[in-house]
Amino acid sequence: MRTLLISDIHANLQALEAVLAAAPQYDTVWNLGDVVGYGANPNEVVDLARKLGGIVVRGNHDRACSGTMEYYQYRNLSWLASYAADWTQQVLTKENQLWLSKLRRGPLRPLGPRVLCVHGMPNDENEYLVNKWSAKFALKASRAWITFFGHTHLQEGWISDMQNPTLLRPNFQSTDGPERFEVALDHKSRYLINPGSVGQPRDGDRRAAFAVYDENEAMLTWYRVPYKVLTAQRRIRRAGLPEVLATRLRDGT
Ligand code: ZN
Repeated sequence: MRTLLISDIHANLQALEAVLAAAPQYDTVWNLGDVVGYGANPNEVVDLARKLGGIVVRGNHDRACSGTMEYYQYRNLSWLASYAADWTQQVLTKENQLWLSKLRRGPLRPLGPRVLCVHGMPNDENEYLVNKWSAKFALKASRAWITFFGHTHLQEGWISDMQNPTLLRPNFQSTDGPERFEVALDHKSRYLINPGSVGQPRDGDRRAAFAVYDENEAMLTWYRVPYKVLTAQRRIRRAGLPEVLATRLRDGT
């Protein structure tokens, strides 16, 4: 079984369309959350995400944009996140807002105990799995062979040994064309894997990120694909969203 792994689309329709066009054949989709927020096409992206089916873990922006985030958490969002969430709330259709509000909280176990899907950390959807310390903590909290996570917008992962997790990153040759990077998964190790962000990468590479997990071959492949960044930026500006949301797409930050 082959699974398309997507995360942090953030209402970027152009990036999602490029990912779907570039993805190899797959049997199902695991979406790790933050379907909306920041980008200018929340309804079109939610429509597509709904059509894709599979499982969807809720992200913090999905909660903020559908009005289901607790007030104290909403107040703690950055001005950029809350501005974009207010705008998204205004433009979402009732039906899409309802779909977002009903997304399930992680962890979800699509294949039973060996695979876990979360947005942030296995024990807390709002926390970031972003360094060795948090990787150690995540490996303790998750008993799964592979934990798929998002939230950091960084395409990377960790391989462990609980005492000493090692950082895994794709080694790409360029920053403009489509590329892929394969990781053969070993059943004696455990993994924490982030497919990267479809719609707002923050690892200095503007290309849309995703991954494919091949269950039968025990193989993970990280992908990067270029997309129409200029169109996504134009839509953000036309929507009246803050300029920084457009410029960061150019820089991948
Ligand atoms: Zn996000």
